[in-house]
Amino acid sequence: VFVDSHAHLTSEQFDHDRDEVIRRAQDAGVGVIINPAINLDDSRRAIELAEQHKNVYACVGFHPHEARHATDAALEDIEELSRHPKVVAIGEIGLDFHYDSSPREVQAEVFRLQVGIAQRRMLPIVIHTRESNSEVFQIVEEAARATPLWGAREGTGGHAMTVRGVFHCFSGDAVFAQKVIEYGFLVSLPGIITFKNAGLATEVVREVSLGDLLLETDSPYLAPVPLRGKRNEPANIPLIAGKIAGLKSTTVDDVATATSGNVARLFRISM
Ligand SMILES: [Zn+2]
Ligand SMILES: [Zn+2]
Repeated sequence: VFVDSHAHLTSEQFDHDRDEVIRRAQDAGVGVIINPAINLDDSRRAIELAEQHKNVYACVGFHPHEARHATDAALEDIEELSRHPKVVAIGEIGLDFHYDSSPREVQAEVFRLQVGIAQRRMLPIVIHTRESNSEVFQIVEEAARATPLWGAREGTGGHAMTVRGVFHCFSGDAVFAQKVIEYGFLVSLPGIITFKNAGLATEVVREVSLGDLLLETDSPYLAPVPLRGKRNEPANIPLIAGKIAGLKSTTVDDVATATSGNVARLFRISM
């Protein structure tokens, strides 16, 4: 069974056929869908959807595009919402220096505060980066150092919690991938790996072990080839899994088993 670890089912692009989209995913073998949020309203919508569908799980948080709306009160609400049993992570959070929709200092502060929520709640984080890999890593590393429970993999002696989370829509090279994996993170690659010009991302897939990879569509964005440019949906996960299987010379079944196991461990979902 596949998992789509990142699909914005709450997007208005699914307003007219959301239930059908979820059904199509199930028919395609996508047994679990994780819905990240972009702001407080969207966090509430994600939880509502997760309440309605057994196989949908929610994240809560402020996307860097929305960081300027993340007031102290709103962040308190996010922390409160994170106690809901179907909330599996704080996300998506991070820094986006491509669009710069919120000032960079605001993005950084809101990211730091949300990493703090995740630490207090012992939840993983779903990280969004765009032209900001090193800045994001620095903030996560500082938070880890300041919190013994969040120590890096090396120093934990195998018992304490490691830094947990996923770099969604991973945009770094294979060297950066190894660095974040060393730190206890997973990396997730969307349909971009099926594009003709996906050199860097395909190299990452080749270098990284299946035990450190997640599958995601980032629906409704980033539809894989041959659907590029269309609205994306979780049912397209097998196209991405097929590409990964090809790049790693293994079977689609192996890709599904490994990546779904990774989701179960990271987000503590029983499948
Ligand atoms: Zn994102
Ligand atoms: Zn997203």
